[in-house]
Amino acid sequence: MLLRQVDLAMYESKKNVRSYTLYTAALESSAADNLNIATRLKQAIAQQEFELWYQPPVDLTDGNVCGAEALIRWPQPDGNYIPPDKFIKIAEQSSQITQITEWVMNKAKEDIQRFTQANLNLCVHLNLSVKDLQCPLIVDKIKAIYSEDAGADHKLMLEVTESAMMTDVVKVKTTMQEIANTGLVFSIDDFGTGYSSLALLRDLPVSQIKIDRSFISDMVRNKDDLAIVKSTIYLAQHLGCNIVAEGVEDVQTSHLLKTLGCDYAQGYYFSKPLKIESFIHFAESYRSVGSLNVSKV
Ligand code: C2E
Ligand code: MG
Ligand code: MG
Repeated sequence: MLLRQVDLAMYESKKNVRSYTLYTAALESSAADNLNIATRLKQAIAQQEFELWYQPPVDLTDGNVCGAEALIRWPQPDGNYIPPDKFIKIAEQSSQITQITEWVMNKAKEDIQRFTQANLNLCVHLNLSVKDLQCPLIVDKIKAIYSEDAGADHKLMLEVTESAMMTDVVKVKTTMQEIANTGLVFSIDDFGTGYSSLALLRDLPVSQIKIDRSFISDMVRNKDDLAIVKSTIYLAQHLGCNIVAEGVEDVQTSHLLKTLGCDYAQGYYFSKPLKIESFIHFAESYRSVGSLNVSKV
């Protein structure tokens, strides 16, 4: 029993990159929880139990919906959803993540056709895990799924978190370059949370930076957050990247971002993630109304 408890504490330390962890009973239940999710994920992957929802980034210059970020959802029999933050981490501990990513890529391809039928010219964003970029087959899989006929009018952007890029910079750089050569573009997700060196921005083929929600949510009140947001916008502009603010929840923040020259914004103020039918309805209704209110205070 002692050895098992020591083991749990060791894994927790490894996960959090800490030199030690004190064992508590909570570690036991979270380990059991994770094991349960890992087991059920196997079936969920085999039976394609997932859904792909979309949240729009909005162009702050004209208020138009310009993209659709695909966010995976895992519905449960009780009507609830297990959040991706929870099950993606578990899937990343095995090869399950690459199977999930393949499902996402195939589903997004189908959905791109639905956007085309609805006359929506959107940049579709997909989230990739670092494990995907370490998978030797990723470039071939992307080529196979997004061959030339897969919605020629649509741009596809792959989001990789800053911390994922940092995990294995040499390998990640080579793979990102190969993928970029196929015509896809990259966005750095959750920028500012990964303690990366600025060399990452210089060396990797990145065309967009997404400032993490933790700097955006209080930037109207907190001058340090504001300073970080301003500097990141400046940096992005001078590196030739466009910039998205994540987690915009009110009109004041949207207005301030627009004034600072931020290109795009995404967040509950504009729309929560939606099922594809609701997303298409949302994007169509804003096209007919004109644009989203990005700056009226
Ligand atoms: P992310 O890519 O940074 O996505 C943004 C997350 O913030 C989403 O959470 C979204 O629902 C949430 N969000 C958007 N606007 C707001 C806002 O105004 N306020 C607040 N409080 N939250 C907002 P979600 O869908 O739970 O996804 C969490 C993370 O899980 C994603 O963060 C992404 O890293 C990961 N993820 C989601 N789908 C996939 C996927 O298909 N593949 C992979 N590898 N990861 C995914
Ligand atoms: Mg993302
Ligand atoms: Mg993010």
